[in-house]
Amino acid sequence: MAERRWRLVLTASPLQGHMTPMLHLATFLHSKGFSITIAHSEFNRPDPSNHPHFTFLSLPDNLSAISDFATAVQFLQTLNDNCSPHFREHLIQTMMMKKDKESIVIVYDNLMFFAGSVAGDLGLPSIILRTSSASFFPAIKIVPQLRQQGRFPVQASLLQEIVPELHLLRYKDLPFVGLPIQYALEVINMIIPKTPPSAILWNTLEFLEPSALTQIRDHYQVPIFTVGPLHKIIPTPSTSFLEEDTSCIPWLDKQAPRSVIYVSLGSIANVDEKVSTEIAWGLANSKQPFLWVVRPGSVQGFEWIEFLADGLVTEMKMRGLIVKWAPQKEVLAHFAVGGFWSHCGWNSTLESMFEGVPMLCQPFELDQKVNSRYLSYVWKMGVEVVVERGEIERVIRRVLVGKEGEEMKQRAMEMQEKVKVAVTHGGSSHNSLEELVQYIFSL
Ligand code: UDP
Repeated sequence: MAERRWRLVLTASPLQGHMTPMLHLATFLHSKGFSITIAHSEFNRPDPSNHPHFTFLSLPDNLSAISDFATAVQFLQTLNDNCSPHFREHLIQTMMMKKDKESIVIVYDNLMFFAGSVAGDLGLPSIILRTSSASFFPAIKIVPQLRQQGRFPVQASLLQEIVPELHLLRYKDLPFVGLPIQYALEVINMIIPKTPPSAILWNTLEFLEPSALTQIRDHYQVPIFTVGPLHKIIPTPSTSFLEEDTSCIPWLDKQAPRSVIYVSLGSIANVDEKVSTEIAWGLANSKQPFLWVVRPGSVQGFEWIEFLADGLVTEMKMRGLIVKWAPQKEVLAHFAVGGFWSHCGWNSTLESMFEGVPMLCQPFELDQKVNSRYLSYVWKMGVEVVVERGEIERVIRRVLVGKEGEEMKQRAMEMQEKVKVAVTHGGSSHNSLEELVQYIFSL
């Protein structure tokens, strides 16, 4: 009798922080014998030459025909609407041609929700991959309720107060504070699936966010697998959309152990000129060596670092290096890096945790404020940054020099140990991945 085979169609989102964990997951699942198709938009496509064992399905997105999107909601809706027809057609063809013993399972990023709808229509099992922190879920789920009770939009007098239902989050840590309520509700509607999938994978660890995971399990009533941090499960070739500037590694080699502050605000955040200039002054005045990633186009109105005055650039070059994109995981693993000034995107948070690097937290939106609060208040391996003249150099020195920094480093290393245990044989994430494989076989 022919052996049953599985083809997994992984539908990846074109955002860096979503694409990377999906490709890590695909690499792991391929190592377990599954055939892998990566369905992706034309925009920010992955590089097939890095993954020769996968099949790639490019979905016409027609995004280049639109010069600007008014909101992220519009972008996501258009992306989903445009990718859906080709995806559906491809699956129908595959199902017609497939051999008797082949099963198809859809694994999709929750931002690519069209894949869940198509799977439902065609009677195929579907599994969601969530790439944000689990604690983001209760923080967004509560927003419609707060709105009904008149607590959202949040009044200025409430911002520093704790949200009673969320115990440790303040109102100011909630997503969408200060943004139009209609926009907030539309995003929430998009990222909390209407039709429950067969199962959900979360790029987190059981020990990190137990209370949020309990709420998620109560809410969805489907198997939830905690499979993080995916970047440490299996070696995977580079997944960066931008070219990594590796010249920073020999530069780091020349610095003293734990002396360098690494600054990166991720792949999406845009910062205004004033804030970026304050960051520059803070780095220069801290008198610590630094590696600063300024992503091209990330400073509003500028291509790269033209906003910095010549004198300031000269001052900065004496002690630091500015690059357009860094090999971040390698940087965080380097002996010279003593602190990570981050926007607290979830991948960056997990990567820093895995390397035991304390964080300076400058969150922008979505789960970043929640992650920042957990880093500084619960896991106590980070400190919030106030972007003001004088404050920045103080906070850099708090983390890199002195007793408080030493304690933070200690806690970061304790976290690192726990994460390492979770991903090794018998650990929670390792077990969860093995259970996931058995679960897919059972579908
Ligand atoms: N990253 C990188 N080089 C950089 C800056 C970021 O490789 O110079 C990677 C980083 O390692 C992480 C991802 O980009 O895997 C950013 O994801 P995250 O969830 O932290 O934030 P987002 O970009 O989604 O806001």
